[in-house]
Amino acid sequence: MAIRKLFIANRGEIAVRINRAARSLGIATVQAASEADRDMLACRLADEVSVVGPAKASESYLNIPAMMAAITESGADAVHPGYGFLSENPAFVQAVEAASITFVGPGADTIARMGDKATARAEAIAAGVPVVPGSPGRVDGAAEALRLAPEIGYPVMVKASAGGGGRGIRVARDAADLEKQLPLAMAEAGAAFGDNGLYLERYIERARHIEVQVLGDGERTVHLFERECSLQRKRQKVWEEGPSSALAEETRQRLCASAVALAERVGYRGAGTLEYLYDDQTGEFFFIEMNTRIQVEHPVTEAITGIDLVAAQLRIAGGETLWLTQADVIRKGHAIEVRINAEDPARHFMPSPGTITRYEPPATGRFDTFVYEGYKVVPFYDSLLGKLIVHAETRQGALAALEQALGSLSVEGIKTTAPLHRTLLKAPDVVAGNVNTSWLERWMQAAKPA
Ligand code: ADP
Ligand code: ADP
Ligand code: MG
Repeated sequence: MAIRKLFIANRGEIAVRINRAARSLGIATVQAASEADRDMLACRLADEVSVVGPAKASESYLNIPAMMAAITESGADAVHPGYGFLSENPAFVQAVEAASITFVGPGADTIARMGDKATARAEAIAAGVPVVPGSPGRVDGAAEALRLAPEIGYPVMVKASAGGGGRGIRVARDAADLEKQLPLAMAEAGAAFGDNGLYLERYIERARHIEVQVLGDGERTVHLFERECSLQRKRQKVWEEGPSSALAEETRQRLCASAVALAERVGYRGAGTLEYLYDDQTGEFFFIEMNTRIQVEHPVTEAITGIDLVAAQLRIAGGETLWLTQADVIRKGHAIEVRINAEDPARHFMPSPGTITRYEPPATGRFDTFVYEGYKVVPFYDSLLGKLIVHAETRQGALAALEQALGSLSVEGIKTTAPLHRTLLKAPDVVAGNVNTSWLERWMQAAKPA
């Protein structure tokens, strides 16, 4: 049944994005907000606002009982979880389902299978999709990890099964290092994700991060091509683009087909992303994880395919069968997204909350944001202020468009990462597309950008 009233259980730029998509489909909205977020842009756009709790995320955006009470009270017939927070939490999805409210995303069972990295690996193996060599599932204590690691091959990565946002990942160079890292990783994962399960993977130092966007209706899945997100800091994406300049067309087809096979195997419903590491020396790709939600960088795909992914999520959740065949998805041109964070690149990316005294959005390109002049950026959450997306016929054209758009963006009163992107645009490796997931950190060490 088509959604009539949507509860938005998130904040920031994605809450603005969801409000706009709902409006375009004639759906009424209820915006969740913590006490610190009453004046964010999404609250101005929504039909109703529901204050769910104090500033602290654990008491508001991550508080399942408080969120459920707000949802049922609002009379909404559907919930959009955005990204982060409760978006991949099976207990939350179960609670929404139990209240006979539509969750915009896959079912709790699919999230439990694919949102957990160790079980998703097992699904990938069963679907014939290559994975990074690693432990068959979660490792049961230090003895097992130490036994498996030499077979996998050092250096190994210790990863939290429930991890996300680049957290819960450590690299161990040898057995002594692994023995030291394991208890730390376990404690960290338990504290961050409420689940201390770990698994091991071979550490691939010079890989590219390439991911495939999919849309499924529970029966059939189509892919919307790939995005490359190799420019990362602390394993968090900083700059994303599509298509990847590293992929030959034949490899692209195989990669995207593997994503469709895996999504169809689990009867995937909604928008999702399958992430891979790609070795441009050997041309091999390896599945690493699935994000069972909308991603930060989804506008890259929207730009090159012309498909509104959030509207697609809402239509699928409203019960529509997929209206697209693979042949309907046509890729056009090249898109780049850069993340503008409230951080000071000159001071180790220290968070920079405070009042925006002057704000001029970029004169060209698309800027997905939740700030306005006079808005006070609060210190409690993720520092993403907005995302600048440009699209042109060629990659070179997109780089030029990015330079132009960045030139006209102005945010005063706080520090942002815009200067980092202006400097990156001048780096020959970036211009040539010659990067991998450790490139940015090495470059920053060498260049010390202002
Ligand atoms: P994307 O894959 O869409 O780029 P990120 O991995 O950068 O998304 O995460 C988007 C947001 O969600 C960030 O705020 C990140 O900290 C948060 N996040 C992602 N996964 C989790 C998780 N499992 N638990 C808590 N927060 C998460
Ligand atoms: P998260 O849920 O935090 O996004 P991912 O498994 O997607 O976790 O890993 C985040 C990033 O860490 C990847 O984009 C990649 O840069 C790096 N990474 C993950 N696994 C490996 C690996 N086996 N070898 C090298 N780098 C890796
Ligand atoms: Mg990831």
